[in-house]
Amino acid sequence: MEHPENDEHYKGLKVNKGVSAVPNVNPYLKKRLPRKEYTPSEFVEGILQGNITILSQAVTLVESSKQEHLQLAQEIIEKCLPHAGNSVRIGITGVPGAGKSTSIDAFGMYLLGKGRKLAVLAIDPSSERSKGSILGDKTRMEELSREKNAFIRPSPAAGSLGGVARKTRETIILCEAAGFDTVFVETVGVGQSETAVHSMVDFFLLIQLAGTGDELQGIKRGIMEMADGIIINKADGDNLEKARLAASQFRNALHLFPPAESGWAPKVLTYSGYYKLGIREIWDMIGEFTAYTKDSGYFHHKRNEQSKYWMYESINEALRNAFYNHPAVVAVREETERQVLSSEISSFVAAKRMLDSFLGEKRPG
Ligand code: GDP
Repeated sequence: MEHPENDEHYKGLKVNKGVSAVPNVNPYLKKRLPRKEYTPSEFVEGILQGNITILSQAVTLVESSKQEHLQLAQEIIEKCLPHAGNSVRIGITGVPGAGKSTSIDAFGMYLLGKGRKLAVLAIDPSSERSKGSILGDKTRMEELSREKNAFIRPSPAAGSLGGVARKTRETIILCEAAGFDTVFVETVGVGQSETAVHSMVDFFLLIQLAGTGDELQGIKRGIMEMADGIIINKADGDNLEKARLAASQFRNALHLFPPAESGWAPKVLTYSGYYKLGIREIWDMIGEFTAYTKDSGYFHHKRNEQSKYWMYESINEALRNAFYNHPAVVAVREETERQVLSSEISSFVAAKRMLDSFLGEKRPG
């Protein structure tokens, strides 16, 4: 019988004969054209010409975890480096709801109007877990996402913060080589990611809100200390006065901080991302900062320091990966962990044992 379910045992169940699948209308539809494989030089040439498709593909290589992709990506980055660096890199942080995407949309449209080219990148090490806050998501920046002079790229998929941040930093280099003269790096104002963003930008903007009555609470002192500019959003309608009041509270609070190494005194401004008020003033502030720090040599000094920082970060990340993926470590890890948990050996002995199994064959003699 074609359908055993129609047998008497299966009372109350009747399976009708189905229909066969409709044939493919276009038999060639399934056959995709193979994606063109570019050589490193072709990648670099495309990027330098500002070809967005090629730029996106190169960023995908940077974000990949496959070894052969990473090698190719490194080759591309190295060739792009001499063409990078000519941009203002701006970090933007603020708690969810502060108005980051609305503001980036407004700043971005303002900057494009001035003839600039803008890349919007993001660091959100939690994005895979939380799914909700996929920073840099195109749909959050409605106007900007339709513009050809804006390149919007969401945060690389979740991983270690160091890994995610490295990928974003390398993407900055590719974007600059492609002619983007302004780079925004967005992050959410909670946790450690601000430090990572701070270590790759020239100017750090903190978006704040007024109206809760306890403006200065809940903001980590460290984040305020990193800010080169604090901007109070939603200074519109009934909220205008509250925003001005919050601004003066922030100004007072900033006086208590030690002067920044740059010699720049952070400014506090009010604006409305939604109604596009006060945007020019924010851009002027950033312009003033870059002129001031370029003049004093600090701009260049900070970029050098950042390069040094990232050199060590890269070494640390590579060592960590090499350690945890080493077969000798993998072989003893589970058992060593068990022994620590059952107090058979101390953490130090356990760590030493694992390190020895890693270093064993690398030690001379
Ligand atoms: P994000 O989570 O930091 O990216 O914040 P959004 O840009 O998504 O903004 C959160 C909410 O605040 C949205 O409902 C926006 O419409 C609103 N919003 C953003 N900027 C302003 C502003 O300048 N004024 C007012 N009144 N509302 C704003």
